[in-house]
Amino acid sequence: MTYNVAEAVEAELIALSGVLTEPADRECLRCFLLRMINEFGCDGTHRWTVRWRDVRAPLATGLVGKLGQLGGCCDCEVLLNVFPHYPPTGRLLPCAGQPQPGSAVPCDLRLLRRTA
Ligand SMILES: [Zn+2]
Ligand SMILES: [Zn+2]
Repeated sequence: MTYNVAEAVEAELIALSGVLTEPADRECLRCFLLRMINEFGCDGTHRWTVRWRDVRAPLATGLVGKLGQLGGCCDCEVLLNVFPHYPPTGRLLPCAGQPQPGSAVPCDLRLLRRTA
């Protein structure tokens, strides 16, 4: 198997360009991380968490440290250990909306299911 450097670089450029990696309006941290890791994967850092924080919760300077204490030592571990509750579904659900501006509390997807 040959490793396609051009493709990898391209994916990285897209990831860094900000077009596809901007948290949507009122998108919660959990849904954003799911979307980004699904698309670009985890590189063992909090790069997506930081990206989300800078846009949606710029005052939450202690967020990364707090997530680390909860077992989220990188983006995918945040999903596994901090936000383990996700409706059993094979696809990504649309975010139900950040409950409070500047808060990392995830949206309540059960609301969506109830009305669906
Ligand atoms: Zn990870
Ligand atoms: Zn959400």
